Amino acid sequence: MTAIRADCEALDAADALALFRERFDLPSGVIYLDGNSLGALPKATALRLSEVVQQEWGRGLIRSWNTSGWIEAPQRLGAKLAGLIGAKPSEVVVADSTSVNLFKLVAGAASLRPERRIILTEPGNFPTDLYILQGLKALLGERIELRMVSAEELPAAITEEVATVVLTHVHYKSSLRWPMATITRLAHDAGALMLWDLSHSAGALAVDLNSCGADLAIGCGYKYLNGGPGAPSFLFVAERHQAAIQSPLTGWMGHAKPFAFDDAYAPAPDIRAQLCGTPAILAMAALEVGVDLMMEVDMAAVETKGLALGDLFIRLLEARCPTLSLASPREAAARGSHVSFTHTDGYPIMQALIERGVIGDFRAPDILRFGFTPLYTRFVDVWDAVEVLREVLESGAYREKRHSRVAAVT
Ligand SMILES: *Cc1c(COP(=O)(O)O)cnc(C)c1O
Repeated sequence: MTAIRADCEALDAADALALFRERFDLPSGVIYLDGNSLGALPKATALRLSEVVQQEWGRGLIRSWNTSGWIEAPQRLGAKLAGLIGAKPSEVVVADSTSVNLFKLVAGAASLRPERRIILTEPGNFPTDLYILQGLKALLGERIELRMVSAEELPAAITEEVATVVLTHVHYKSSLRWPMATITRLAHDAGALMLWDLSHSAGALAVDLNSCGADLAIGCGYKYLNGGPGAPSFLFVAERHQAAIQSPLTGWMGHAKPFAFDDAYAPAPDIRAQLCGTPAILAMAALEVGVDLMMEVDMAAVETKGLALGDLFIRLLEARCPTLSLASPREAAARGSHVSFTHTDGYPIMQALIERGVIGDFRAPDILRFGFTPLYTRFVDVWDAVEVLREVLESGAYREKRHSRVAAVT
């Protein structure tokens, strides 16, 4: 049982990942527990971006599409990212946003299961995931049916009518982690396809898509991958599906020969068929720095540390802040790298914490969410954050009026 701050210092001293904190440009006086929502800035990013802007764009101009590897960026980044999620280099590309990639792959999955109508997901899944599925339903009408079944009942709802199961591996609020191999197997036993949203997993957990036999996956570049606000997203299509899956967004970057300028669309024979328009090179450059940094570490070690930070946080917080209730699995193996608690005054409490330099976030209606990013979060940060939270709760400082003013982004 960690009883004093010095014990946390000892954990940091023994932590093989501790050195990576130096690689990030973190503001002083801040304990950042929101890297699961917007990852921190790697020190190398600013220099790399100015190089891309001034040299590659400014001097190289259009030549840089060929000479600076711009045109290959979606595949190059995809191949790098593949190593972080248990995929082959040829199975991942970086493009578009997570929302758009979900649209492309769910529509594509429908094309792989033309005789089935049902897309199965859970209520309370991340809003954009649900909204995209609803939009696809509005577009395709009777061709598909959207079925939402609670997590407890979902495994039994994977029947032979289901075309595609769409789940977020780690839930954005509760941090509940689906057993990826088990659910994927259930989907396959029913003849369905499995699509995983890895937004809260990639860069945090040791995901192994191919050992689970996953069919399709998407994920976010600006959370644990530290790619910068609005960074491009990634998508995975298992090799065995690449020839048959049809993207509904048949832009020229997905054409077999974009620069043949043919009138007729003909898809690329590989993962490139999932590309649509011209890649956002500046955003890609920032994401590549984050991915390169992540490639230096062993994802199993990252996962272990993230869960240890979460365990420590739960233990200290429950001992010192009894008015908060745990809203995440207590068991680390059932969790992702963030931990949520509930409190009816969750919003003003989080505002008071942020004012004191402890940055987490609030998710309506009553969730206080704390992300533990192993590359730059220390065990002492957990200790200190809990102390600040205790002070905010015990003093009632969060009741000050200004903390209840709700901003556009929570
Ligand atoms: C963060 C997140 C997204 C983000 O989608 P955008 O298109 O980048 O806005 C999507 N799904 C899940 C589960 C997420 O956590």
